[in-house]
Amino acid sequence: MLEEMIRVENTTYEYGIRGEENHLIAVDNVNISVKKGEHLVILGHNGSGKSTLARLMNGLLTPTKGNVFVNGMNTKDEDNIWNIRETAGIVFQNPDNQIVATIVEEDVAFGPENLGIPPVDIRKRVDEALRIVEMTEYKNHAPHLLSGGQKQRVAIAGILAMNPECIILDEPTAMLDPIGRTEIMNTLKKLNKEEKKTIIHITHYMDEAVAADRILVMEKGKIMMEGTPKQVFCQVDRIKGLGLDVPQVTELAYELKKEGFNVPCDVLTVDELVNAL
Ligand code: ADP
Ligand code: MG
Repeated sequence: MLEEMIRVENTTYEYGIRGEENHLIAVDNVNISVKKGEHLVILGHNGSGKSTLARLMNGLLTPTKGNVFVNGMNTKDEDNIWNIRETAGIVFQNPDNQIVATIVEEDVAFGPENLGIPPVDIRKRVDEALRIVEMTEYKNHAPHLLSGGQKQRVAIAGILAMNPECIILDEPTAMLDPIGRTEIMNTLKKLNKEEKKTIIHITHYMDEAVAADRILVMEKGKIMMEGTPKQVFCQVDRIKGLGLDVPQVTELAYELKKEGFNVPCDVLTVDELVNAL
């Protein structure tokens, strides 16, 4: 069995036509290897190429140059397309655009129905997916009456019901309130730790990135930084130079350190800072 979930190899993606005004290199010669079971976070300010990269990682886009492999399958090979979509599901920012049915459980069933899964198995998959995202009690509800966080969990259940090994989430909390964001972060933790799914989470919230095994920071289509949350957030000036912030508590530790306090640079939680002080 492969240990690598996704490999992005010397990959470039260009929008528009070279030499014309609309030409733009959105992903610029990127190399990434995502291990099975990994929880990867991708950071970067608007326009840095994150969404393009997300779409390359499940074959919605194919590279202009280079190759992307999902569980060993090249996304350029058309024979692999359905298998790839089943292996790596993608959740987008706006839950309203992802919900297609008028009843929660019908919505979750939509993906597996399209895959031609037998009805008895669909039933099982839908129940299991709703259990994992803790939305079972809402299975007969109308999605439009749910909160943003609940809707996004239904969208995640819809992907889960296709039984993917890997889930890619492109700013899934961007439209949610703090409660909704917490719900999604708890769901992601559960998917990774209990369900052993590979998680690729794109976000612009630094506090969400703290939960990752590894962080990539993008700018202008390139990977500018890579490392564990501690390794990345330790480099406060570099992060700021890329137009991003560090988690609030890391920033506080950084300022204290500048004032001569003996605190480590890689403080990520309030508890760590309290202990250090
Ligand atoms: P991010 O998700 O980090 O904001 P994107 O991948 O959406 O970045 O965009 C990267 C660059 O590609 C941006 O300059 C954006 O304007 C451009 N871009 C994105 N989608 C398209 C498209 N469909 N056509 C042309 N340019 C696009
Ligand atoms: Mg985006």
